[in-house]
Amino acid sequence: MSTPPRLVELKCKCEISHWEIDYDFRGMYGEEEPYDAGIYTCPECGFQGSGFTVIQKSPSEFFLQPHDMYPMKIGEFIKWVRVLRKHFPKHPFLKLLCWRWYPGKERWWQFW
Ligand SMILES: [Zn+2]
Repeated sequence: MSTPPRLVELKCKCEISHWEIDYDFRGMYGEEEPYDAGIYTCPECGFQGSGFTVIQKSPSEFFLQPHDMYPMKIGEFIKWVRVLRKHFPKHPFLKLLCWRWYPGKERWWQFW
C-alpha cells in the first residue's frame, strides 16, 4: 500500500533546494518513512545520497483532486499547480487541468 505522490522540496547540504515528486513506497502499515532516508540527487552540486532536508511538501490530496472527502480550496490548489508547472512542466496532470483535475468535490455526474 502506498500513499499518493507529493511534490516535495528538498534542501541539499550545499544549501540549494530542488523539487522531487515523491512516489516512494511507504511502509505496510502506512507509517511514513523519513525523507532523509531516501536517496536523491542534487541537480546543483551533484551530490547523491540521503540527508536532504524537507522544506515543504504538497498535501497528499493534491494529486487526488477532485475528492469527496478531501476537497482542496482553489487558492491552495493553484499554489501547488504553479509549483508543478514550474518544476515539472511536462507532468501529464497539467494536460488534465480544469476538465479532469480541479479542486473540490467530485461531481455527481462524473462517471469515468
Ligand atoms: Zn547540492
